[in-house]
Amino acid sequence: MGQSFQQRGQPMFILAEDTERTRGEDAQSSNISAGKAVSNAVRTTLGPRGMDKMLVSDSGDVVITNDGATILEEMDIEHPAAQMIVEVAETQEEEVGDGTTTASVLAGELLSRAEDLLDDDVHPTAIVEGYNRAVELALEAVEEQVLDDELDDDLLEKVAETSMTGKGTGDVNAAPLAETIVAAVRQVRAEEGVDRDSIQVRTQVGASSSATELVSGVISEEEPVHENMPRGVEDATIAVLDVDLEVREGEIDAEYNITDIDQLNAALDAEESELRGYAETVAEAGIDVAFVTGDVDDRVASYLASEGALAFDGVDDDEATAIARATGASQIGTVNDLDEDDFGFAETVRVEKFGEDELAFVEGGAEAEAVTVFVRGGTEHVADELERALNDAIDVVTVALDRGGVVPGAGATEIAIADHIRSEAASVTGRKQLAVEAFADAVDLLPRTLAANAGMDPIDALVELRSTFQDEGRAGIIAENQTGEVVDPTEQGVLDPAAVKREAVESATEAATMIVRIDDVIASN
Ligand code: ADP
Ligand code: MG
Repeated sequence: MGQSFQQRGQPMFILAEDTERTRGEDAQSSNISAGKAVSNAVRTTLGPRGMDKMLVSDSGDVVITNDGATILEEMDIEHPAAQMIVEVAETQEEEVGDGTTTASVLAGELLSRAEDLLDDDVHPTAIVEGYNRAVELALEAVEEQVLDDELDDDLLEKVAETSMTGKGTGDVNAAPLAETIVAAVRQVRAEEGVDRDSIQVRTQVGASSSATELVSGVISEEEPVHENMPRGVEDATIAVLDVDLEVREGEIDAEYNITDIDQLNAALDAEESELRGYAETVAEAGIDVAFVTGDVDDRVASYLASEGALAFDGVDDDEATAIARATGASQIGTVNDLDEDDFGFAETVRVEKFGEDELAFVEGGAEAEAVTVFVRGGTEHVADELERALNDAIDVVTVALDRGGVVPGAGATEIAIADHIRSEAASVTGRKQLAVEAFADAVDLLPRTLAANAGMDPIDALVELRSTFQDEGRAGIIAENQTGEVVDPTEQGVLDPAAVKREAVESATEAATMIVRIDDVIASN
């Protein structure tokens, strides 16, 4: 039934027949429940003792992960309000690369607290204003927590390790991985900061993850198009070609009206000479190595091999862009007039075999610094989760350097945030004050969850955290030998970038307040 308005006694329908409408408290509570449900789903994965989730898609693909953003992305969530929590995780991932579980758990708890306030007749507007005031206070507290220590390699490695704990690194010692990551970021860092695209992570199944190396260049997954090609080229002139090197479509499809054998031979010769022409053009232009995004005909491949060139086809766009960027090549759309200015250079291009697969290493590119963190994982699932963990680690090191330093992790910054908000709440007038206090209670859920996941009683832990914070100014939950302990996380090297905390508070609040303001859901079916 559509919605009707009474007008001069006649109902007036403004919405389509099959529109569904939920209003007022019903709309609010259904949205809030959906948002809470999503955040509860990721809660058990928070922190180093968090569990993993196994996600199975319709088609039977399996992903095993502890990464909040990945879980929510794979869950295929439909409810619009729940979808907003998924967006919190996505924003967090895009902006700072870590803290996705933190942000979604906080968003869910802010909703839950808002529901209680609504039940107590606090108006949505007061909730929104109170939450926004609390965000300002939270950001002050984060600033206050930023460590004065110099951001040297040692400290950055701790930040990298903190972001990897509990991830697919398993029992592997994360220290060498963290070292590699900090070296990678340092190597590409320019005055303007780190260009994130210049650091790639490439995983290869087949060895243990301790076999990690930093490659000063780009790795391509493609294999040479012909087995007789050189497997290593030094001082290589490189072309990145966005073309197909095969007989042009039109000619294959054209119908030859062949009446005698000479004509057939002529047609085949024409085809051969076109294919040979490609290889000659490439070799004459002085190209040693060609990365082709399109297809290369087997015969062209064989001609190229006999010209001594090395070529790869089906190179994916990201790889082509990275190779072009590193070597100073332009991506060329035709082989008709090749210009030296469009070529790039690298010190070496070499092909290496890893089990069944071959990989091409393009090192010492002439133009831009580019590095690849090359990791091995025992199985594909391990390699995938490791790749996510390493990407997070690269992100946290980058944002720690470029966006305002580091704060103590393990819940310590959250304890400081809640404390600061509570101490300032008294100065907030009216019912808003209740919302400010509720915000502090919501933030407490993060250390409480870390404690619970570490097997501690969350209430006892919170009490101890607060008193240690009062006495010593810093208190977090460190999980040692199956039990959690309240200590100063900086002494254990558990550090998060300040930007991750700022972003989590801001994006969680944005989503929660948006959902709280909704009192009318009109869905067309
Ligand atoms: P997120 O997606 O929010 O990053 P994580 O599962 O990575 O979720 O957990 C992050 C939290 O775990 C942060 O608060 C971080 O400080 C904390 N943490 C990381 N390593 C440790 C550790 N060794 N001991 C205690 N807490 C840790
Ligand atoms: Mg994390």
